[in-house]
Amino acid sequence: MAIKLGVSACVVGEKVRFDSGHKRSHFVSEELNPFVEYVPVCPEMAVGLGVPRPTIRLLDRGEEIGIRLVDSKDADIDHTDKMVEFSKATAERLADMELCGYVVCAKSPTCGMERVKVYRENGYVASEKIGVGLYTAELMNRMPWLPIEEDGRLNDPVLKENFVFRVFALHDMYQSMSDGITRKAIIDFHSRYKLVLMAHSPTDYKELGAFVAKIADYEIDEFFAEYRTRFMQAIAHRASRKNNTNVLMHLQGYFKRDLDKQQKAELAGLIESYRKGTMPLLAPLTLINHHLQQNPDQYLEKQSYLNPYPESLRLRYGL
Ligand code: SF4
Repeated sequence: MAIKLGVSACVVGEKVRFDSGHKRSHFVSEELNPFVEYVPVCPEMAVGLGVPRPTIRLLDRGEEIGIRLVDSKDADIDHTDKMVEFSKATAERLADMELCGYVVCAKSPTCGMERVKVYRENGYVASEKIGVGLYTAELMNRMPWLPIEEDGRLNDPVLKENFVFRVFALHDMYQSMSDGITRKAIIDFHSRYKLVLMAHSPTDYKELGAFVAKIADYEIDEFFAEYRTRFMQAIAHRASRKNNTNVLMHLQGYFKRDLDKQQKAELAGLIESYRKGTMPLLAPLTLINHHLQQNPDQYLEKQSYLNPYPESLRLRYGL
């Protein structure tokens, strides 16, 4: 089954922006494209604002009224209600589609994910506000497990890797449940992501382990719903160099009987170089994958940490 990814329509090159332009992202349109099936949405077009159209903005109308989505030049033209209605209905529809992620367009009062400008009645930006686009706020509210990232932030190699990794992990979760959500399917999935969780959040690794140990106490759909959110929020933490080093040393331990002195020293040297920041993560991982081929281990072979997404995406080079 294809990986379904929601996307702001302008980010995949559709000319739907207020000025009839687009904001095509090379990474989204070219590099990620072969691996995913996009579900493009332009909420502003969908609620009947055509192209070209007057610009709109978020306006803080005070405590009683709250933040409204209005025409930039005439605040009496208020699009909030129809945008919220569309956003809720669309988020509901997308939640049923097993969407695995969403790329939104930055800064937009509709699609922006963070730091969207919120204006005051006097025309100044309320700088203390951290604004979120109305549509994206509904997506985040309805699907707290969903990886969402802004187009611009995907130029950062670390944020890009973390986002793509989460998208593939969520797809893997859905694939693992494709024959039905069962206790065994969840436990098997969790077992394959133990090293990932250790690298991304040792605290969540322990807490989720304790949660999974009590799986028999829960109704299965209810358990899965909570597990999905907790797992996805755990892996949203970036894997630190320190935690990755711990995982690499843990992996090293699996080969202690298989490697000779020189091989052990070579692997230890690469892990130490990674720890010091003079080698990328890929260097010790490539050697570990090589040793795994020579010395197969059923548990390790299934660990998503070793092969989280297609190598051709070249995402681990910069880590
Ligand atoms: S940012 Fe969102 S609302 Fe604006 S043009 Fe792009 S898809 Fe449409």
